[in-house]
Amino acid sequence: KGTQAKKIAEKYGIPHISTGDIFRANIKNGTELGKKAKTYMDQGLLVPDELTCDLVVDRIQQDDAKNGYVLDGFPRTIPQAEALDASGVVIDRVIDIEVPDEKIVTRMSGRRVCEKCGSSYHLLYKKPAVEGVCTNCGTLVQRKDDHPDTVKDRLRVYHEQTEPLKEYYEKQGKLHIVEGQEEVADTTALTLKALEA
Ligand code: AMP
Repeated sequence: KGTQAKKIAEKYGIPHISTGDIFRANIKNGTELGKKAKTYMDQGLLVPDELTCDLVVDRIQQDDAKNGYVLDGFPRTIPQAEALDASGVVIDRVIDIEVPDEKIVTRMSGRRVCEKCGSSYHLLYKKPAVEGVCTNCGTLVQRKDDHPDTVKDRLRVYHEQTEPLKEYYEKQGKLHIVEGQEEVADTTALTLKALEA
């Protein structure tokens, strides 16, 4: 999902706004928000809406977002979507990239990220040149929220709290479903098509 959101942002020359990235940056910088968010993220739980909604609405109001933006990983709950609607933010389209649960477990459990620069690798799909080492800089680690047990918790949270958003945006006529393919390039083509359809 992050990969696709970044491609959309690049193509249209608009900012990519990822709540996960914002939380991780806050954790890295040791902010109060980061400290609070981390306790939830490490358990595979969603960060409470009170800590999430204002952050996004503020971010959207910044200058670089005046010609549009891609929201990645937000909204993730019905109250978040309602808060967006209530703030007057108009969402044009919602892209839901569907991947079966089993595949998500394989994809996430194999992900490794660089401690230093945040670059992402995969044990099966995107191996670094040297095992355990980032091609640009540091050591590769597994994000705590990518541990297989945490991934299963995140999937449960997804089905309970995020999946109902499909119906919410279907009713608003904004939902476009894209089947997540084996190849990232195919998913990208389908995602970009869904934006133009
Ligand atoms: P992501 O990188 O989008 O997978 O997000 C990583 C983690 O950050 C999630 O598992 C949540 O704990 C938290 N998070 C990101 N976006 C949201 C959101 N919109 N609402 C609540 N928690 C979020």
